[in-house]
Amino acid sequence: MPSLRRTRSSINRVRRSLLPLAVAGAWAAPAAAPVCPPLADAFRLDRRVDSPGVALTFDDGPHPDGTPAILDLLAAANATATFFLVGEQVERYPEVARAVADAGHEVALHGFRHTLLLRRTVRELADDLARAHALIEDVTGASPQLYRPPYGVFSLGGLLHARRRWRPLLWSTWGRDWTRRATPTSVARLATRDLRPGDVVLLHDADHYSAEGSWRVTAGSLPAILEAVQALGAPFVPCTQAT
Ligand SMILES: [Zn+2]
Repeated sequence: MPSLRRTRSSINRVRRSLLPLAVAGAWAAPAAAPVCPPLADAFRLDRRVDSPGVALTFDDGPHPDGTPAILDLLAAANATATFFLVGEQVERYPEVARAVADAGHEVALHGFRHTLLLRRTVRELADDLARAHALIEDVTGASPQLYRPPYGVFSLGGLLHARRRWRPLLWSTWGRDWTRRATPTSVARLATRDLRPGDVVLLHDADHYSAEGSWRVTAGSLPAILEAVQALGAPFVPCTQAT
């Protein structure tokens, strides 16, 4: 039965060549969670907070100009938010990171370097997160409880590791404020479309990893976003206190 043997061996060859793909697929499976709510649910990745409030979140800071601008607008509306800080920026601008915590906002973890998790080993990620956590704690006096990876993209190993110490949190609505084409109007409109209590809004107070000056667009959009939340009658809640 030479032909059957050949068939079997070619099936085995196909299986062997598919195996790395299957492994890679499993490794990258949580990556699409930010844009695929059922996938986020499957991996038990929170996108919302269990609260009658709305959680505003700002990623990629601190930034010497962007963060103070956002802090001023939040203070004027008596609003509290959550800032997912990047360790390498905390190192550059420790006084800005401290000002975030001193103003009563929650500080959370976004990594030490802003690197896609799919490009890292779990060991590299573990070192990166431990370094960022220790620095944020040292500078702000607050211990981050939440983790959001760069671009919201988890690897399977990264998710399993992060979950041992932090609560992963994505978002349920965004303003796409990092793009070059964003305007204050487009950001506010997108971020507040179908806004409801429990939403987690993704925004950025820094342009370190996005279009230059994008934080100005975010700052320009924020008054309308704050108004929309107030119009809902929803309080502004930091993410951890909300759950
Ligand atoms: Zn980021």
